[in-house]
Amino acid sequence: MKDEKLKLLLGGEEIAGRVAELAELISAEYEGRKVLLICVLKGAVIFASDLMRRLKIPVEIDFIAVSSYGSDTASSGVVRILKDLDRSIKGKDVLIVEDIVDTGLTLNYLRKNLLSRQPRSLRVVTLLDKPARRRVEFTPDYCGFEIPDYFVVGYGLDFNEDYRHLAGIYVLNPEC
Ligand code: 5GP
Repeated sequence: MKDEKLKLLLGGEEIAGRVAELAELISAEYEGRKVLLICVLKGAVIFASDLMRRLKIPVEIDFIAVSSYGSDTASSGVVRILKDLDRSIKGKDVLIVEDIVDTGLTLNYLRKNLLSRQPRSLRVVTLLDKPARRRVEFTPDYCGFEIPDYFVVGYGLDFNEDYRHLAGIYVLNPEC
C-alpha cells in the first residue's frame, strides 16, 4: 500500500451532486411503485446506501456478491455468484446497483441470471462506466460518470481491499 499513488478523479461533493441527480431521475421514473435495489457487493455498498437515502419512493434492498478480480487488476472474465439474494424477486421492480461497468461481463451475466427469476422490470444503475473496455455489449440504464480506462479506487471501490473508505474516487498509480 505504501508504494501506491493516488490522483483525485472525482471529489466527494461532485459524487454527492450526481447521486442526488440520479435519485431524482429514478424517483420520477418509478413514481407510484416500490423499487428493489440489488446492491452488488462489495464495491457498490457506499453508492447504494447514498442513493437509497435520496430516493423519494418506497424502496427495499438486497445484496448479491459475484466473483471479480481478486488481487489482480485485469478481468478474469469468469463470473460466479458468491452470495445470492435472500428473497425472491418475482414480480418486483428491480434496480441493480453497481459501482463500475468495465468489460460488461459481470452485468451481462447478472442481468440474464436475474431476468430468469421473473422480476416485473429490471434496470441497472452504475456510478461509473468505462465504455472503452467493453468485451460484451452492455449499456446501463442510468450512469453517474463515464470515465477513461483508468483503474480507480475509493467510494466503495478497492485495490486488495484497501481504499474503499475514501470519500472521493482516485486513479491508482496514474502515469502523470
Ligand atoms: P466487468 O465485469 O464489467 O469487467 O467488471 C465489473 C467489476 O470489476 C466491478 O464491479 C468492479 O468490482 C471491478 N472493476 C472494474 N474496473 C474497476 C476499477 O477501475 N477499479 C476497481 N476497484 N474495480 C474495478
